[in-house]
Amino acid sequence: MNVNKNTNVNVERKCERKIEIEEIARGLIAAAWRFYDARFQTGNGGNLSARYPGKDWMIVKGTDVAFAEISEETLIIADFDGNVISGSVKPSKESLLHGALYKKLPCVNAIMHCHSPWATGWASTGQPLEFATYHSALKLKGEIAVFDSGTYAVPAEFFPVILAHFDRWPEAKAFLLKGHGQVALGKNITDAAYNAELVEETAQIAVIARLLRGKN
Ligand SMILES: [Zn+2]
Repeated sequence: MNVNKNTNVNVERKCERKIEIEEIARGLIAAAWRFYDARFQTGNGGNLSARYPGKDWMIVKGTDVAFAEISEETLIIADFDGNVISGSVKPSKESLLHGALYKKLPCVNAIMHCHSPWATGWASTGQPLEFATYHSALKLKGEIAVFDSGTYAVPAEFFPVILAHFDRWPEAKAFLLKGHGQVALGKNITDAAYNAELVEETAQIAVIARLLRGKN
């Protein structure tokens, strides 16, 4: 009887976990679609992921899959070193950086990476993002730095430079990659997407503010 009871509990837990994973996957798909519709990410660039509950794994977009084509079939489960646990496509090249961020930042449960134009344009200045509004400073919580890894995909040797930034700004919600795009962090994918949207909005306002001020 006890065995049966335990089995039922295990089955229930397994079902709860499955529902939880499906909800996370649906959230990733919805965020990808929203970013594609808003043209924050075009073509097959960008990436997004979420921490797999209770494991050192992540649910991440497959490589070369467009945000507009993302589905449960093109999301995979990988460990933080990019090894595939489940799925039929390769993880995105950028997933290794996501894994390094999950290892470093236990409160981060989701990451949105996109090549949104205003944030990427601002990154060309090499300067931390100017908080042109009060709510940017309030919500983005710390310096939004610009890193230049010198190539289109951040190499693993460069990860320590980015991770060290979070020793100084442990609550920072995003950073910019020069010549590339932005990376936003969140407690779930909706939160990470909101932070990425705020970074994009902040960059646009900052550029307008600079133009109107007439100086760089
Ligand atoms: Zn990218």
